[in-house]
Amino acid sequence: MSRVLVIGCGGVAQVAIQKIAMVSEVFEEMMIASRTISKCDAVKAKIEATNSKTKVTTATVDADNVEELTALIKDYEPDLVLNVALPYQDLTIMDACLAAGVHYVDTANYEPEDTEDPEWRAIYEKRCKDLGFSAYFDYSWQWAYQKKFEDAGLTALLGTGFDPGVTSVFVAYAKKHYFDTIDTIDILDCNGGDHGYAFATNFNPEINLREVSAPGSYMENGKWIEIPAMSIHRTYNFEGVGEKDMYLLHHEEIEALGRNLPEVKRIRFFMTFGQSYLDHMRCLEDVGMLSTEPINFNGQEIVPIQFLTALLPDPASLGPRTKGKTNIGCIFTGKKDGVEKKLYIYNVCDHQECYKEVGSQAISYTTGVPAMIGTLLVANGTWRKPGVFTTDEFDPDPYMEALNKYGLPWKVEENPVLVD
Ligand code: NDP
Repeated sequence: MSRVLVIGCGGVAQVAIQKIAMVSEVFEEMMIASRTISKCDAVKAKIEATNSKTKVTTATVDADNVEELTALIKDYEPDLVLNVALPYQDLTIMDACLAAGVHYVDTANYEPEDTEDPEWRAIYEKRCKDLGFSAYFDYSWQWAYQKKFEDAGLTALLGTGFDPGVTSVFVAYAKKHYFDTIDTIDILDCNGGDHGYAFATNFNPEINLREVSAPGSYMENGKWIEIPAMSIHRTYNFEGVGEKDMYLLHHEEIEALGRNLPEVKRIRFFMTFGQSYLDHMRCLEDVGMLSTEPINFNGQEIVPIQFLTALLPDPASLGPRTKGKTNIGCIFTGKKDGVEKKLYIYNVCDHQECYKEVGSQAISYTTGVPAMIGTLLVANGTWRKPGVFTTDEFDPDPYMEALNKYGLPWKVEENPVLVD
C-alpha cells in the first residue's frame, strides 16, 4: 500500500491522477498539490464520483520553493512524489524529496525557466561547445544527483512519459528479447489528431514551442550532429493514421540512450507536423513571439512566449475537439545470432477513446498513463534501486505488461519499412 503526492494538475497530471485512482489496491492515498488548488479540487471531485477507493486530498504548493515543498512532504509523509508540474521544477522537487527522504518520479528532464540567468548560461554554453547540442534541456543537472539519491537509498525515476519514457522501455525490451546488438534506433512520434484550431499545442505551449523551434540533432557514433530546425524531413506511412510529414528534432531520450547503450551507431527522433503548425510557428518565431527574454511593454515587463501561452488554447481543453489517432514507437536495426534484423515496436492511441475514458486528448493520455506506470513500479518496489535512472535502465517486462493492462497496448512488427 502506498501514499503518493502528485505535484501539478495540468493536462498530463489530470490523466496520471485519474489512472492512479484506478489502482487503489496499490495507491491507498493520494495528495494532489499545485499552484491553483481549484484545479486539484475539481479532479478530486471527479475521482470521488467514481468507485475508486483511493483517498484523495489536495493542497496548494509553490514547487519552486524548496522549504515550502519539503514542509508539505514531511507533513503528508508520502512514499513517493510524482512531479507532473513543469521541467522548471525538477531540481527543487528533487531537493525537497531528498530533504524529506522520499522517492522521486518525473516525465521530462530539467530545463531552466530563465535561460538568460548568467550562472546557468555559462554552464550551458560550455555544454553546447563540449557536447555539440544546443537544446536548453539536458540530463546533466539531474544526473548530478546520482550520489545524493544513492547515499539516501532513494530512487529517482526520470522521464516516464511516452517520449521520453515508453520509447526507452521499447529500446530495453528490443534489446532484451530481439537483439544481441542494436545498430540504429529511429523514434517516430506521429500525432494524426485534428483539434480544428489553426494553431494550438498538445501540451504546455511554452515547453512545446521551445522544443520544436530549437535546432534538431541526432547521435551518430557517440557524437551529436546538430542541424537547423526542421531541416531534415521524411514521410512515413503510420498504421492508424496514414502518410505524414515528419521532421528530425532533438529529443531528450537520445542523450540517455546514447550514454547507456554506446553500441548503438545512430539514434534519431522524428515528429510529425502539419503545414499550418509549421507556418504559424515560423511566423511567431520571426516576429519574436517565441522569445524567453522579458521586454518592456507599456511600463510592464512581459515574456513574449508566456504572453503567447496565455493566448493559445489550454491543452487540457483540446480533449473534446480532437479526433484521430497517435502512433508512437521505435524502429530498430541490428543483429540477432549473427543475422541482420529490423523491428518496429509502437502504440496506436485514439484521441476520442481517451476522451471517453478520462476526458483528455491522447497526448495527455499517452504521457499520463506511463507517468502512473512508472510511479506504480517505484511504489510497489519492482523498479526501485538507489540512484537516478531513466526508464531504459530497468527490466522492461513489468512496464510493458502494465502498458497493455492500463490502456496503451503495443505491437511488434518484424521487417518494417525503414526511414532513410
Ligand atoms: P500544464 O501546463 O498543462 O500543467 C503544468 C502544471 O504544473 C499546472 O497545473 C501548473 O499549475 C503546475 N505548476 C507549474 N508551476 C508550478 C509551481 N511552481 N508549483 C506548483 N505547480 C506548478 O503542463 P502539461 O500537463 O502539458 O505537462 C506536464 C509535464 O509533462 C511537463 O513537464 C511536460 O514537459 C511533460 N510532458 C512529457 C511528455 C513525455 O512524453 N515525456 C509529453 C508531454 C508533456 P497551474 O495550473 O496553477 O498553473
